[in-house]
Amino acid sequence: MRNIDLLKLDYSRKIELSNSIVAQALQQCNNPAVSFSGGKNSLVVLHLLLQYKPDIPVIFTNTTNEFADTVKYVRRLAREWNLNLYELRPRWNFWKVVKLFGFPPESRYRYGEPHCCYILKIEPILKIYKEKRFDANFTGLTAYESRTRMVNFLLKGCVIRTRYIGRHRLPFEILSVKPIYFWNHADVLRYIEENDLPVNPVYRKYGLERCGCRLCTGHKGWREQLKRISPKLYEYVLKKIEEYGFDSQPNHAKK
Ligand code: SF4
Repeated sequence: MRNIDLLKLDYSRKIELSNSIVAQALQQCNNPAVSFSGGKNSLVVLHLLLQYKPDIPVIFTNTTNEFADTVKYVRRLAREWNLNLYELRPRWNFWKVVKLFGFPPESRYRYGEPHCCYILKIEPILKIYKEKRFDANFTGLTAYESRTRMVNFLLKGCVIRTRYIGRHRLPFEILSVKPIYFWNHADVLRYIEENDLPVNPVYRKYGLERCGCRLCTGHKGWREQLKRISPKLYEYVLKKIEEYGFDSQPNHAKK
């Protein structure tokens, strides 16, 4: 079946296929890990994985720019589901990074990867993959989230062998697995409802479509969102932008 045809499968076929992707990928690795951001997509993938490998290491990157509710939610879920959780922390916190390098520019990746994303997210992940020698990375990415992801899905599909995490090279190869790459938002919501999965409360509390960093000046629409969620913080960020500026050399660490 061509990758494009996977997008047209009905919901129950998608579930079957995702299960089979997970089962087959687990047979091809010895030391896998699953990324968990606290968001809905990664919750679905985590739930799928736990049916096959309940002790799988669960990687949560606490960027220091999370909603407090997200951190609480992840820790609570770890207790309730008995997760083998690794909560990663960056070497510097968000405010130190933006002070040193500036805020992420709008359209975050347009001019390269901002220091903020590299230091807060990517570097801790690379570090733990190297330390633990994880040989597979399961994520909850979906192709519908962006044009780049859709193109990537159409060209490469759900499972690839790679030496890269994002644009950063590892000293060894891993299996990169995206079991729900071909799902749409409605599929994710239906799976969550059918399986009665506990969703991160930040979605409802702040009326968010996606949960991620609490404030990211690299996202289109960050101003409206932050103003609505926390007008005080918004004013503070505007002042700090005047002081620190935006990250003007974001092509960091293309190693
Ligand atoms: S999403 Fe934005 S705030 Fe979060 S780490 Fe990346 S650039 Fe920084």
